[in-house]
Amino acid sequence: MIYEPEAETRPREQLRALQLDRLQSLIEYVKTRVPLYRDRLANVDPADIASLDDLRRLPFTRKDDLRDTYPFGMFAVPREEVVRIHASSGTTGKLTAVGYTAADIDLFARVNARSLAMAGGERGMTLHNAYGYGLFTGGLGLHYGGERMGMAVVPVSGGLTERQLMLITDFRPDVIACTPSYALTLAQAFRERDVAPEKISLRYAVLGAEPWTEAMRREIDAGLGVRSTNIFGLSEVIGPGVSCECVEERAGAHVNEDNFLPEIVDPNTGEPLSEGEEGVLVFTTLTKEALPLIRYWTGDITSLRSDPCACGRTLARMDRIKGRADDMLIIRGVNVYPTQVEAALLQLPELTPNYRIVISRSGTLDEADVEVEVSEEFLGDEELRARAEARLRESIGCSIGVRLSARGSVPRSEGGKLQRVLDRREL
Ligand code: ADP
Ligand code: ZN
Repeated sequence: MIYEPEAETRPREQLRALQLDRLQSLIEYVKTRVPLYRDRLANVDPADIASLDDLRRLPFTRKDDLRDTYPFGMFAVPREEVVRIHASSGTTGKLTAVGYTAADIDLFARVNARSLAMAGGERGMTLHNAYGYGLFTGGLGLHYGGERMGMAVVPVSGGLTERQLMLITDFRPDVIACTPSYALTLAQAFRERDVAPEKISLRYAVLGAEPWTEAMRREIDAGLGVRSTNIFGLSEVIGPGVSCECVEERAGAHVNEDNFLPEIVDPNTGEPLSEGEEGVLVFTTLTKEALPLIRYWTGDITSLRSDPCACGRTLARMDRIKGRADDMLIIRGVNVYPTQVEAALLQLPELTPNYRIVISRSGTLDEADVEVEVSEEFLGDEELRARAEARLRESIGCSIGVRLSARGSVPRSEGGKLQRVLDRREL
């Protein structure tokens, strides 16, 4: 089902015309309302932006701009028009505050209803929402989206796994929304209690807020008996619902491009890259009122494609996030993202997706070890350990030590974002 068919299946020519129109109004809007843009765009006239290619003439907005004007210095409306404030989870430093007008909240609900429909959700279904409620945008974002769609939303929030299992068993939800690592925790908890996947009512899972891999998708789908899709978002742009995969193809997340204009740029030069090329994802918010952003540098690494999709949507798709530019580890000169480690490890069926990378320093060299959980029979299995190290070396190109540890030894996500890397260098 497509939630807003007209907006989601518009011919791309028309979509581009709409984006350009909205972009020109946006420039006028931010120049008159946001001091930072009044200065930065002093020499830019909306009429100078004659096509979307002219976007490249506009400066980037970065997380530091929000930090420098913390908390509300970049808001484009007076405080009386702000009806909600959220904050980013602060994964990469001091948190940033974001605000919404009533119209922004309406947009937030609609893009999440769209996402739930992309993921297989329909009016009348029950949604078990195990994203954290609170300052984090995940919980309330999916909550309003589910209600807007006409689902019965169960606002469980994260954590208290035992209670989650009980509610899933008793209320028989069709759809679950949470982080992929928490979905895995729930799948394992069901297995430990001998509940077979076919006995679990869930059919679809809308998972996001942290990077994950296809290997993890297979585990979750098998463990919960669902078809899971990847939802993406960031609080500065709106929260979840910026993009979501469709359950038909599950090959890239459709970006709600009529509202969030995506670009991929070179991480070093900032020059725009073409379709299919990997680089930093940048967003311009085309319709937001309280916190409009021009060319916001997400730091997330991915690529875009706009070929037709089986679901009928014309919205471009973004690939899975490989990592954040700031998550990149440099191990003996080799650039490594945690998701690459995960993809390599999960090629060995004896290893579980519960792992963590520990960075330490010996002398001046950074060293990395990965601690990965295995079931009891493989604890101390030297052959397996050597095979895992060889696999990492082959697929990543540097040596990373492997430690096999008992089930339950690596910290789990309680519904919030999981930290996959433990940096011991500063300790
Ligand atoms: P913070 O930046 O403090 O973590 P947010 O809650 O706004 O705060 O998180 C947004 C970030 O979360 C994105 O920029 C991205 O790095 C990550 N993220 C969100 N959804 C996904 C996803 N589906 N896959 C990978 N990373 C994601
Ligand atoms: Zn699709």
